[in-house]
Amino acid sequence: MEAAEKLSILIRDAAFECEGGRSVAARAVQELKAQRLQESIYHAKVRGGTIPLLKTLLTNACIKNCAYCPIAAYCDHQVVSFKPDEMARLFIAMHKAGLVNGLFLSSGVVRDADTTQELINDTAKLLRTRYGFRGYIHLKVMPGASPEAIKEASRWANRISVNLEAPNEMRLKKIAPDKNFQTELIPTLQHIAQIVDLKRVEWLERSGLVKRYGKGWLVDLDDLTTLPRLPILSSTTQFVVGAAGESDREILQTVARLYRQAQLGRAYFSAFRPICGTRMENAPSESTVRERRLYQADFLLRQYGFEVPELPFDANGQLPLDKDPKLAWALQHPEHFPIEVTTAEREELLRVPGIGPETVGKLLAARKKGAILTANDLHRLGVILKRAAPFITLHGKPVSKEVSVKEPEATEQLRLL
Ligand code: SF4
Repeated sequence: MEAAEKLSILIRDAAFECEGGRSVAARAVQELKAQRLQESIYHAKVRGGTIPLLKTLLTNACIKNCAYCPIAAYCDHQVVSFKPDEMARLFIAMHKAGLVNGLFLSSGVVRDADTTQELINDTAKLLRTRYGFRGYIHLKVMPGASPEAIKEASRWANRISVNLEAPNEMRLKKIAPDKNFQTELIPTLQHIAQIVDLKRVEWLERSGLVKRYGKGWLVDLDDLTTLPRLPILSSTTQFVVGAAGESDREILQTVARLYRQAQLGRAYFSAFRPICGTRMENAPSESTVRERRLYQADFLLRQYGFEVPELPFDANGQLPLDKDPKLAWALQHPEHFPIEVTTAEREELLRVPGIGPETVGKLLAARKKGAILTANDLHRLGVILKRAAPFITLHGKPVSKEVSVKEPEATEQLRLL
C-alpha cells in the first residue's frame, strides 16, 4: 500500500484523539496534495495563532478492547502501520512542502506499552536528530509505559499525554476493560508529573530563578509568582465524556486532583459519539453542550480560583446545560453581589460573570490611575457589560448594560502550549 493511502487511514483513525527513501515520501506528499488530504491537517490553537499539525497514528493495530474505539482488537478494520523511519521521512517531506509544522503522534498498542512507546519515541528521536526538526512534537504515552520509556519520550517532545478516558476505576472498567486506572494510568501520569517537575526545575535553574542549595533549592519567590507560562514540557489528558455514565462532578474532581498532584497542564473533554462496528455503536451520543460546560468549569478551576465543591452541580452531580457555570454560580449566590469594581479584591472581581483574569489585571491597573469613571471605561478594559452589569456597581451606582460601541461575545480560547 502507498504511503499516502496508509497515512490517510491513520489520520482518519486518529480523529478520535483530541488536539494535534525520500522519493516515497515526496510521492506521498504529491498524492496528499492531489487528494486534498491536507484538509485533514489539524490546526491546533496556540497562543497568538495556530499550528498545522499532522495528527496521526503510527499504527491502527491494537491489542486492547476499548468499547468505544474503532481500532480495538475486536473491530474488523484494515490494519496499516508505519515504521519510525517511514513516518519521520513522510513527516519531514510534508513539513518541507509547507503542509505541517508540528506532529501529534499516537498509536494503537502493539504487543505491550513499552514496545509501542519505543516506536513512538524513535520516530520523534529521528525527527530531532537525523532530520533536525525543531518544531512542535506531541507524543502520546501508552498506559503502563515504564518510567524509562516516558523519560525518553520527554527528551524529544514538547508535550506528552496519556488518555485517562474515564474519571475512576469503576467508570473505566465499563468502557475499557483491559485498562487499569490505579495500576496503569495513574502511575503513568505520576511518572509524567515527576519528569515535568524535573524539567521545570532544570529550566528555572538555567534561567537563574532557582539555585541549588545543599540537597534543596533556593527559590526567588517574587520572580516565580510573576513567571509567564514556562516554555517547556507539559502534560495533558483526555476524557471521553458521557460514555461511562459518569457525572461532571466525578470528572472535575479527578481533574482538580491531577492539577494539584500530577502537574497536569490541561484536560481535554471529548463528547462521546458512537462509532459503527464498536461495542458501543448503539449507545446514545453525548451533547457537545456538556463538553463545553466542562471546559468552562475547568477554566474556573485553573484560572478563577474556584474549588470543585463550589461548582453549581445538580443533585446528580451534573453542571447546568442552559447556562455557563460561572453565571449559574453567581445566580445561586446573590449574597456576594453587587461588587463595587473600584474597590473589590481581585478574587471578588474574578467571580463576576463577564470579567476574566486578563480584564481583572487591567481593571486593577486602571484603578490605580483613577481611570475608571464610566461604563464605557469598563467596556474599554474588557468587561462584558451585558453579562457583568447585574452583578456590579461603579462608584456606588448600578451600571448600564449599554455602551456606545458594540461588545464582543465572551469566548474562551483553548491553548495548546
Ligand atoms: S488502547 Fe483502547 S482507545 Fe487506544 S487504540 Fe487501543 S482500543 Fe483504541
